[in-house]
Amino acid sequence: MAALAAAALIVVLVPSVAHASQLGDMVDYDLVFPVEGDHHLADTFWAGRSHGIHHAQDIMADKMTPVLAAADGVVRLVNWTAREHMNPDRCCSLVIRHDDGWESRYIHLDNDTTGTDDGRGWGIKRAIRPGVRVEAGQHIAWVGDSGNAEDTPPHLHFELYDPSGTIVNPFAALVAAGGNDVGGGARDPIVSGARVLKVGVVGADVRALQVSLAQLGFDPGPPDGHFGPRTAAAVTRLQGSVGIAADGVVGRVTKAAIAGLHRDDSDAAVLSVGSRGAAVSATQRALLERGFDAGPVDGIFGPVTLEAVVSFQKYQRLYVDGLVGPRTKASLGIL
Ligand SMILES: [Zn+2]
Repeated sequence: MAALAAAALIVVLVPSVAHASQLGDMVDYDLVFPVEGDHHLADTFWAGRSHGIHHAQDIMADKMTPVLAAADGVVRLVNWTAREHMNPDRCCSLVIRHDDGWESRYIHLDNDTTGTDDGRGWGIKRAIRPGVRVEAGQHIAWVGDSGNAEDTPPHLHFELYDPSGTIVNPFAALVAAGGNDVGGGARDPIVSGARVLKVGVVGADVRALQVSLAQLGFDPGPPDGHFGPRTAAAVTRLQGSVGIAADGVVGRVTKAAIAGLHRDDSDAAVLSVGSRGAAVSATQRALLERGFDAGPVDGIFGPVTLEAVVSFQKYQRLYVDGLVGPRTKASLGIL
């Protein structure tokens, strides 16, 4: 048993001995800022999204703002295909394999004809096709709102991978390359978490909520962006199912609960509502030691633990999403 434990310990220690990047490491990487002109950049790498944790940087900019290659390299994929015949249903995204083995990905490129939201445009330069060489700073595409960004403000979703294929946080590299870090912590322009959603509220964020509730099986009615009684009833059912105050109003805690319910369970590195086990116990213990009431140390991530995580994240000025990922774990001293 002792031998087993020792063996397990060695396995855990190896990655930190070798200097390979870990998921989300803030890297010092030389690149060209991939958006030319006015933009807004805040660190959204660990932000919660309807599909899980973000793991990218969103560079907010107007539609049709030029997108530039971040480094010298070769176009590997266009709309996720490596063939000349490029899938128009996946418009518009690009992947560039850099000469040094790193890789950058450019997502939500424009897919509309000018002045519309018709989805019939092609926001990638015609010459940019799989196998084509590009130079750092070369104009390759335009900012848009394609893919699952149709209901958000236009932006470039930018991902960076090291040569081992690990997705790293390019925020510092982007700021060093001329991005306007607005500072003041990780405000997320997509989630714009400040707005509380309740009966009578109208907008794209309500529509996103309705889509999200429908995916989770809570039947909020048609995704029309109007928060009516049926959406409120769906929210109340969801709140009841995770044990938080069932008032039909969507604030921080309910948003965190929804993000948790959407989380991919295969990503064991991030704990959320519904997680169970020793890592949850360790989180609860660490919260209690720091004066945050996480409830009994029972290894079950329920509503009381969620409230404690949210309070802790606010107190530490972390991104408030109710998810216990690497940053929150590091702040709790349980990495
Ligand atoms: Zn994004």
